[in-house]
Amino acid sequence: MGKARRIGITGVPGVGKSTFIESFGLNLINAGHKVAVLAIDPSSTLTGGSILGDKTRMTRLSTEPNAFIRPSPTSGTLGGVARATREAMLLCEAAGFDIVLIETVGVGQSETLVSRMVDIFLLLLLPGAGDELQGIKKGILELADIVVVNKADGEMREAAMAAQRDYHAALKLVSGTPLDVLLASGLKNEGLDTIWAAIEARLAAAKASGAFEERRANQGVGWMWAIIEEGVKAALLADPAIKKRLKALEKDVAAGRETPTAAAAEILALFRPRG
Ligand code: GDP
Repeated sequence: MGKARRIGITGVPGVGKSTFIESFGLNLINAGHKVAVLAIDPSSTLTGGSILGDKTRMTRLSTEPNAFIRPSPTSGTLGGVARATREAMLLCEAAGFDIVLIETVGVGQSETLVSRMVDIFLLLLLPGAGDELQGIKKGILELADIVVVNKADGEMREAAMAAQRDYHAALKLVSGTPLDVLLASGLKNEGLDTIWAAIEARLAAAKASGAFEERRANQGVGWMWAIIEEGVKAALLADPAIKKRLKALEKDVAAGRETPTAAAAEILALFRPRG
């Protein structure tokens, strides 16, 4: 377990994520890998709907015996979805998948969750969209290891090359560690080998420097705490008296009759699981 390469992929709807993942996944399978594709769709937790999850996506990849595709869970909190996804990732690794791709789309929160479970993070951008970087939350850029200017084909090739230069210059200012900015066409299956090589190079460097192990270790501790926090909160809410008092205190805090600090202190004083 834990032997797989864990790769996060994000980008706005329409940037070409599913097309990219299908080509990328098929290439990896042809090279002898077993590829699992998991997704965290932040919209599914709010509305039960989905930005990512329609069933017609990745039809070629989904028929491959060495591929496993799991759509985003469609209920619960984002934290719960992240936890279910992490558990699915560990199961895939135990089942022998050596590459796990975790796809997401969002405005920061879901990227943060994904970055806490992957070794490397790809951000897909569109060519030509000159102001696009400004529309992307700085936080997402800080999570990215490799920026891919996707759809670098046909008429968009020139624009993609210009975008690559612009992004390269702009990203130097944003990020302390140099990012790779690479061109790709998921549709034409172009540039994907270069991206894979960049991923391998980064992972090899991180392993050699110890950064890889350190990141995994921090992720493990982070997940431990996430599960503890969830458990403590669940235990708190399982106590009927506390739950009732919480409802009343929420109203008091909202109405300004009680300070958040005093309300929290009262609840914590009531919460004595062992006492
Ligand atoms: P997603 O919403 O990010 O998953 O994007 P999709 O993979 O569904 O692609 C959105 C649209 O862009 C579709 O019409 C694709 O055919 C098109 N598309 C995806 N990748 C490429 C590409 O590399 N080049 C071109 N020209 N079009 C692409």
